[in-house]
Amino acid sequence: MLNMSNISAGYGGVPALHGVSLQIKKGEIVTIVGSNGAGKSTIARTLTGLVEPTGGSIMFDGRAIEGLPTHEIVALGLIHVPEGRHVFGKLTVTENLMLGAYTTDSEAKTRERMEYVREMFPLLRERSNQKAGSLSGGQQQMLAIGRGLMASPKLLILDEPSLGLMPKLVEELFEAIHTISRTGVTMLLIEQRVLEALELCDRGYVIQNGRIVTEGLGSELIDSEMVRKAYLGM
Ligand code: ATP
Repeated sequence: MLNMSNISAGYGGVPALHGVSLQIKKGEIVTIVGSNGAGKSTIARTLTGLVEPTGGSIMFDGRAIEGLPTHEIVALGLIHVPEGRHVFGKLTVTENLMLGAYTTDSEAKTRERMEYVREMFPLLRERSNQKAGSLSGGQQQMLAIGRGLMASPKLLILDEPSLGLMPKLVEELFEAIHTISRTGVTMLLIEQRVLEALELCDRGYVIQNGRIVTEGLGSELIDSEMVRKAYLGM
């Protein structure tokens, strides 16, 4: 579904990614793990056109997407739930969800997506008319993911969804990610919670200083000495 090949990118001439390659197959949960500042979010931003690559290519669902504007990439079904949630606090839960559906004109399709999201996160049905700003951090994260799901993603990128959540909520969140995956959504999960992410994913990539240093099945990475030493404190 996705083939990122030899991508370089940065900010104001300062490189943040050096020749990053990664692949995601249909139906997979792929995770990228790494420390603060390693380049994880830059990969997400490059995939969705927020950062323009200085080299390399990106194929998504059979199309070259590097250099396309973000709204065209979104319309192809590549949806990014950014780090920090960015819900609109003064709008209601339902209004926030509706914003995620802006790519479709079909009311029937929007209703169907709304029902799917509310089945996935019943809390978003219960709190439909509540202002998003009054939700807890964990609830806002569910809303941000729900808004992403409203856009009928083929590939959903979740950037640090567990950031700032209490352990119990993290568990619920990871369960929700697993459930979403079972409904056929392919996912790229960016996480600093290395162990939980590797346990959940099919395959993973480890990034350090803008370079992929190792990749493999989640279980292989958990057993890898480098990952255990550098990220799991074992
Ligand atoms: P974090 O988990 O802290 O977000 P990350 O692995 O996602 O870390 P990135 O945000 O991709 O890392 O950052 C990669 C590098 O790019 C870092 O050196 C960072 O300082 C730099 N960087 C990120 N965003 C910007 C920006 N908007 N302007 C300038 N430099 C940036």
